[in-house]
Amino acid sequence: MGKRVLVTGGTGYIGSHTAVELIKAGYEVVILDNLFNSKIEVLERIGKIANVVPFYKVDLMDAEAVDKVFEKGKFDTVIHFAGLKAVGESVEKPLSYYENNIGGTVNLLKAMKKHGCNEIIFSSSATVYGDPGKPEYVETMRTGQDISSPYGKTKYMIEEILKDATVANPKLSVVTLRYFNPIGAHPSGLLGEDPNGIPNNLMPIVMKVARKEIPKLAIYGDDYPTPDGTCRRDYIHVVDLSKGHLAAMQALKPGFNVYNLGSGKPNSVLEIVSAFEKASGEKLPRKVVKRRPGDLAEFWANPGKAEKELGWKTELTVDDAMEDTIRYLKNEE
Ligand code: NAD
Ligand code: UDP
Repeated sequence: MGKRVLVTGGTGYIGSHTAVELIKAGYEVVILDNLFNSKIEVLERIGKIANVVPFYKVDLMDAEAVDKVFEKGKFDTVIHFAGLKAVGESVEKPLSYYENNIGGTVNLLKAMKKHGCNEIIFSSSATVYGDPGKPEYVETMRTGQDISSPYGKTKYMIEEILKDATVANPKLSVVTLRYFNPIGAHPSGLLGEDPNGIPNNLMPIVMKVARKEIPKLAIYGDDYPTPDGTCRRDYIHVVDLSKGHLAAMQALKPGFNVYNLGSGKPNSVLEIVSAFEKASGEKLPRKVVKRRPGDLAEFWANPGKAEKELGWKTELTVDDAMEDTIRYLKNEE
């Protein structure tokens, strides 16, 4: 019998894909989400691909409601995706981001402590490295400096809170996963990235251009010191990323443990545009505009630690991610 896992943010983009992989691997999954940035239909789709799972529409900021979820059923492990993630919006509304992301995590940790749940996997981000001056990020690099947004700072602060919690409770096992740039969709075409409101990540914008909801992709600068002048990032297929959580489940051990989840290979904005065009067979309208403040020219993961200790590495390519994205887009029509 597999472990019983609470997936916070489980109707969201990465959470829903991870829920599918967990169910397929025999875990007992329960989803908690306030549906702020996801839709209830996702549950049905998880059901179609894998199996129907129990769902709590609960806001992590509501400590009492979170506690009740733990009262109703014991969990072995929590995978904690729930959080606000719009970098630009976090600059406008820093207090909402601190309240939701940090306050929500503290409520979750308190309920876990009260109910004797000692395992948590946390969704962190490459942004915690700030601007380390080298493009290949390794877990041993310092974190917490030059982080360009309140969103990024919440990720750093939550990592620190989790570290402190492991000191106070030697039984607590924490795995923090620092994601690079998740892209793609489920190969069934049933799950993908479908944020409410105006997105600011590259792929959801590319998808909006493809749907003709936005006339053109604005490429933020082509005068960077990179091979084609556009910024380079480490794009990782969401299914590979989800499988990284299953690998992390096997490696849970007391203390604070951290892993980069990335492919180790950078792609430029123009390469992403070309890959999308190749998969869709259509030209993607675009224009080059000025640089976006706070963007670094390039960075990518050193994924060696995850490969060595978790036995995990990416298997899918950017082209796979684009084909799956197109299938998801077609499925919406
Ligand atoms: P998402 O917005 O699709 O999913 C997050 C889910 O959390 C949403 O369904 C939302 O409704 C829910 N949520 C937010 N606040 C909540 C609250 N207070 N209570 C209950 N539910 C709440 O985002 P995603 O892309 O799937 O990201 C998942 C996690 O990974 C987030 O923590 C995000 O910061 C982190 N992350 C994402 C990326 C990325 O580029 N997608 C990169 C690095 C890290
Ligand atoms: N980008 C772009 N146009 C957009 C959105 C993003 O040119 O409308 C570029 C951005 O400058 C960056 C890359 O795409 O180089 C990835 O941006 P995203 O916001 O998705 O991720 P992050 O910058 O947080 O790595």
